[in-house]
Amino acid sequence: MPKTVDSFDFSAQPSVNEQAYRELLRGEYMDKHENVLFIGNSGTGKTHMATALGFSACAQGRRVRFHGVTSLVTELMEARERRCLERLMGQLCRQHLLILDELGYVPFSKAGAELLFDVVSRAYERQSLVVTTNLPFENWVEVMGTERLTGALLDRLTHRVHIIEANGESYRLRHAQKRLRSKKSE
Ligand code: ADP
Ligand code: MG
Repeated sequence: MPKTVDSFDFSAQPSVNEQAYRELLRGEYMDKHENVLFIGNSGTGKTHMATALGFSACAQGRRVRFHGVTSLVTELMEARERRCLERLMGQLCRQHLLILDELGYVPFSKAGAELLFDVVSRAYERQSLVVTTNLPFENWVEVMGTERLTGALLDRLTHRVHIIEANGESYRLRHAQKRLRSKKSE
């Protein structure tokens, strides 16, 4: 099933502000180069909702790219080694919307954190970023490495930001438990 808004069950995740999210699907945040941050624990639909924003932006004819943050950082470091970093950065900069999925599971190296900062910094007031994360702000330093870089990154990312919190129980876990229970009663 495609990860669109139609396949998202808001009643299963009452912590999400459905009205604010639906407003974002209209895409005006991209005209204003504003960002969107999905924060919450694992399995609460953050990636699903970010993907759905991507689909609706594509349907509006906007240029969109979706990256796992960790693999994007790896790609950036490899590009730098091959001396084609500027080409990759140029491709990223041409998008109206960059979706960076799953910040927080893997800490970056110093070089990696600086490259990610570079992406966020170039996007600032020129493009929109959608970021999903399981980390509250006070813990971002754990993945970014230094207070200075974390502060500078958060400053740019959150200057104009819409925050959607998803803090319910895990949809995956609940469905796995449901399946288990129905197997037991068979
Ligand atoms: P997160 O990124 O927050 O860890 P995901 O978006 O990957 O969570 O969601 C985990 C799985 O559960 C995905 O297959 C997603 O489509 C599904 N899912 C999560 N929340 C919902 C929901 N409210 N309605 C429908 N499917 C959901
Ligand atoms: Mg996710």
